[in-house]
Amino acid sequence: MADSNDCKKISVVVPCYNEEECAPIFLKEVLQVAADMPADFEIIFVDDGSKDDTLNILRALAKNHAQARYVALSRNFGKEAALLAGLEASTGDYVAVMDADLQDPPSLIPQMYSLITEGGFDCVATRRVTREGEPPIRSFFARMFYRLINKISDTKMVDGARDFRMMTRQMADAVLTLKEYNRFSKGLFSWVGFNTKWLEYTNVERAAGETKWSFWKLFVYSIEGIVSFSVKPLAISSLFGILFFVAAILGGIFIAVRWLIFGDPVQGWASTLFIILFVGGIQLLTMGILGQYLARSYLETKGRPVYIIKERG
Ligand code: UDP
Ligand code: MG
Repeated sequence: MADSNDCKKISVVVPCYNEEECAPIFLKEVLQVAADMPADFEIIFVDDGSKDDTLNILRALAKNHAQARYVALSRNFGKEAALLAGLEASTGDYVAVMDADLQDPPSLIPQMYSLITEGGFDCVATRRVTREGEPPIRSFFARMFYRLINKISDTKMVDGARDFRMMTRQMADAVLTLKEYNRFSKGLFSWVGFNTKWLEYTNVERAAGETKWSFWKLFVYSIEGIVSFSVKPLAISSLFGILFFVAAILGGIFIAVRWLIFGDPVQGWASTLFIILFVGGIQLLTMGILGQYLARSYLETKGRPVYIIKERG
């Protein structure tokens, strides 16, 4: 570690939820990497309301290591909130965001740092090229999600992108100006722009503990992404409306003509029932889509903080 005055500082933000086993291993690995780098380090753990002993462990780590600090949230606010809390607490010239489970290899940090300081990039992000060790059905839906969102949103999302990235203070500050309550970081990082370099690496298994993401949580998260970064679903709903209006007029003309030619139109209750159910279904669907946007506007207008800090150290 250099100690000259122009030595830059790298902040590493680590959201932790029930990571009692991973946090110490993580810190050890990062400090090992840091020791060989010409920069100072500040590691900011964010305890996201863990139910296990994480907070106690973070307290001990912060006490025993000058470079480690922690911020404890008052309950589990979710990874996005924890990430924001960490970014806001960071003071470095460069900010890296990493998971505590070592699925984001700290060995990439020196390369990221030199790409930013010498390569002229504002941000170095990572993407997985394989989804090994993941259930195939999850990979399938993940791929579908990225295809869909890139079709309907102007903000580009990279398939397999991890949250693991390093950025300049300028870009971190730009992300911090986005005050929205419903946060979809992959989109936010892309939305602020700047020059991003993508590093590819193969998937690494968790060091310990287990993933906090159930299939259902991921599904809800993907809806978050779509609603936060596109209003096209609303336009599609209107399109449905127009299509059905046209179909209704054509159907009406058809029935009128048939009545004129063949007489009694009272026939075909089965098809009537089908149409009622079909149109009813579409109506509920479009109302649901509308509801998603309305619900989020509601949450945004309440202006509640994204997280609440209980303790720092
Ligand atoms: N995490 C968090 N709050 C949550 C869920 C997860 O801070 O409510 C953290 C977690 O401790 C880890 C990171 O977010 O450091 C990624 O979580 P995980 O490894 O479970 O996700 P995966 O890698 O399976 O996508
Ligand atoms: Mg993980």
